[in-house]
Amino acid sequence: MTAEYKVHGDIAVITLNNPPINGLGHATRVAITRHLEQANADGAVKAIVLTGAGRAFSGGADITEFGTPRATQEPNLLSVILAVENSAKPVVAAMHSIAMGGGLELPLGCHYRIAAPGCKVGLPEVRLGLIPGAGGTQRLPRVMGVETALNLIVSGEPVNSELLAQQPGQKLFDKMSASAESLMEEAIAFARSVAGTRPLPRVRDLPCKHPMGDAYFQFARNMVKGMAKNFPAPLKCVDAVEAATQKKFDDGMAFEREIFINLMFTPESRALRHLFIAERAASKIADVPASTPKREIKSVGVIGAGTMGGGISMNFLNAGIPVTMLETKQDALDRGLATIRKNYESQVKKGKLKQDKYEQRMALLKPTLAYEDLKDADLVIEAVFEDIGVKQQVFEKLDQVAKPGAILASNTSTLDVNRIADFTKRPQDVVGLHFFSPANVMKLLEVVRGAKTGKDVMATVMDAAKKIRKTAVVSGVCDGFIGNRMIEQYSRQAGFLLDEGASPQQVDRAVEKFGFAMGPFRMGDLAGNDIGWAIRKRRAQERPNLKYSRSADKLCELGRFGQKTGAGWYDYQAGKRDAIASELVNKMIEAHRKELGIAPRKISDDEIVQRLVFSLVNEAAHILQEGIAARPSDIDMVYITGYGFPIHRGGPMLYADQVGLFNVVQAMKRFQQNPNDDAAFWEPAPLLARLAAEGGTFS
Ligand code: NAD
Repeated sequence: MTAEYKVHGDIAVITLNNPPINGLGHATRVAITRHLEQANADGAVKAIVLTGAGRAFSGGADITEFGTPRATQEPNLLSVILAVENSAKPVVAAMHSIAMGGGLELPLGCHYRIAAPGCKVGLPEVRLGLIPGAGGTQRLPRVMGVETALNLIVSGEPVNSELLAQQPGQKLFDKMSASAESLMEEAIAFARSVAGTRPLPRVRDLPCKHPMGDAYFQFARNMVKGMAKNFPAPLKCVDAVEAATQKKFDDGMAFEREIFINLMFTPESRALRHLFIAERAASKIADVPASTPKREIKSVGVIGAGTMGGGISMNFLNAGIPVTMLETKQDALDRGLATIRKNYESQVKKGKLKQDKYEQRMALLKPTLAYEDLKDADLVIEAVFEDIGVKQQVFEKLDQVAKPGAILASNTSTLDVNRIADFTKRPQDVVGLHFFSPANVMKLLEVVRGAKTGKDVMATVMDAAKKIRKTAVVSGVCDGFIGNRMIEQYSRQAGFLLDEGASPQQVDRAVEKFGFAMGPFRMGDLAGNDIGWAIRKRRAQERPNLKYSRSADKLCELGRFGQKTGAGWYDYQAGKRDAIASELVNKMIEAHRKELGIAPRKISDDEIVQRLVFSLVNEAAHILQEGIAARPSDIDMVYITGYGFPIHRGGPMLYADQVGLFNVVQAMKRFQQNPNDDAAFWEPAPLLARLAAEGGTFS
C-alpha cells in the first residue's frame, strides 16, 4: 500500500507512504480514498489526520504518469481532493518538509491545515509549462490573497511555511506546530478539538476578490509577458487566478482544467517535462547501479591554472572542497590565482557573494609548483595544453605521485581518453571530465568513460558532479565526445551557408530567432575562432577529403580570432561586446564565393535553421548508434546545458521528434542534392533512417 492507516483513539491517521517524496500516483490515490472511506465508516473515529511519511508531506503529481492514461485514471487527483473536501468527518492536513504541487492542492481540499516549520510550500507546475491543475489556482488565492497566490503560482518557487504563516490575514494554515517533531501529536490534538465542528469549513466557500482587480491583473500580465518570452504557461496562470476572482468556484475549476489540458499538449510543456525527466535519467548509468561503492572525494588537485583550470578549481572551492592548483611556472600560477580572485571579487561587488564566504573559499585554495603536493588528493583534474605529449608527461608524473585509489581525470576536449589512461599503470582510475567554458558557470559536464574506467570511478565522479552542481552526462570515447562532435557538423553547415550566399548576420539572426542563445558566428567570436582553426588543421591531415568552407580559415589568416582580438566575423569596439557587421568580412566572403565559382542565392531562414539543426540530429543519430551516448535525452541535456539550444524546444532530439523524423529525413534528402553541400554527410544515419521508415521517434 502506498498509504498507511492507523487509529489513535478517536482519530484516524492516513499516512502517504510512497518514497521518495510521496508522489500522488494512481496507487497512492486509490489508497487515500480507501482509507478515507474506512475512517468515515468507523463509528469510533471522530476526525482524520492526513500526513506523509519520511521526507515529505507530498511532492505532488507523479510526473512519470504525465501524458499517460494512468494520470487521469480514477480516482484522479481532482476526485481525491473532492472526496476529502466532502468527507463527513473533518480532515486535517499535517504538512511537513515538502508540500508542493498536488502535495499542496490536496491540503487545500482539507478542512484544516497545520504545518511544521521549514515546510517548503509551492505550486511549481509552471516550471513544467503547466498551471496547477487540481484547484491550486482557485483555492490558493482564497486562503493567501490574490497577489501572494499569483506570485507563488507564476514563479513556481517554494516558500517556507513560517514565512507564509506571517502573512496578514492568511488562512492557509490554521496552526503552526512548535517543531517538526511535535507535528503529529499537535495535529491529532487539533483534530480532536475540531471533531464536532459543523458545518465543516471549505476553502471553496471563502470569498476571492481583489479591490482593484482590473488594474492589478493588467499590471500582472505586463510583468509576466516580459519574463515569459517563449512560454505560454505563465500568462495562463494570470488568467486562471483572475478567473478565481470573477467566476463561481466550480466554473473557475472548469476554466483551470481547460487551460491545464491545453497546456499539456503544447510543445513547450512537452519540452520542459522531457528535460525534467532527462536530467534525472542522465545521472543513471545502466551497468553502474546506485549500490556501486563510491570513493571519497575530500580534496582535489587541479593541474594547469589557465582558462579552464581556474574555473574548475572554483567549482570545488564553492562546494567547500579544498583544491591544490599546480602550474609549471610561478608567473602562470600567479596569473591563475589572480583570475580566481578577480572572479570572486566581482561576485562580492555585485552582492552575490559575502566577503567572509569569499575569504573561506580562498583559504581552501593552495597554489603550488610541486607535484609532491598532489600526493594526498582524492581526485586530480588535468587542464594543461591540448597536446598529447604534454598530457603524457603530466599523467606519467601523476602516476608516480598520486596515492593509490586517487581518480585521475583529464579535461581534454578532443584527445583520446583511452590513450591518456594508458600513460598510467592504473587506467581503471582514469576518466575524462570535460568541463565547458567558463567552467565555474556552465552547467554541463561530459563524463568521458574510458574502455577501462572503473565502475566505482564512474559512480564517484557522477556523485561529485552533483556536489559541484553540474549536470553530468556520460559520453563514450570519440573525437569531440557528444557535444563538440555534433557542433563540428553544425559549424561546417554554417560555413557552406556563407559560401552559398548567406551572411554571418543572416545566419545568426535566423538561429537566434529559432531560440538559440547565440548564432554560430557570434559564438565563434566569443569562444575564439582559432580553436576551430586548430581542429580543422588536424582534420585536414586525418581526413584530407573532408569538405568544408575555407572562409573561417581565411578569417583566422587575417588574425580575426574574435572578441579577444577585437575582430572576428564581426567588428567590436574596445571594451564592448556588441557585434557589428563587418564590411571587410562580407567582402572576404564575396571574394571567396567568386573563387569557388558559386553564384550567391537567397537562402531562407527556414533552410538555415533546418540545415544547422538537422546536422546536429544526424550526427547525434550516429553517436547513439555507436553507443557514445546512452540515450537520446542525454544528447538533449548536453545541448540545453552546454550549447544554448532553446529550452522551449527541448533539445535537438525532441525537436526532431516533434518535427517528425520522416520530415527530417526528407529534408536531408533535399540537402543531398545541393552540389555545394556535403552529400555524403546528409545520408541519414541508419538509426534515423530506420526510425523514420517505421514512423518511430527517438524518445
Ligand atoms: P590554457 O592555455 O588557458 O591553460 C593551460 C594552462 O596549463 C596554462 O596556464 C599552462 O601554463 C599550464 N600548463 C601547461 N603545461 C603544464 C604542465 N605540464 N603542468 C602544469 N601546467 C601546465 O588552456 P585551457 O583553455 O584552460 O585548456 C586546458 C585544457 O582544457 C585543454 O585540454 C583544453 O582542450 C581543455 N578545454 C578547454 C576549453 C576551453 O573552452 N578553453 C573547454 C573545455 C576543455
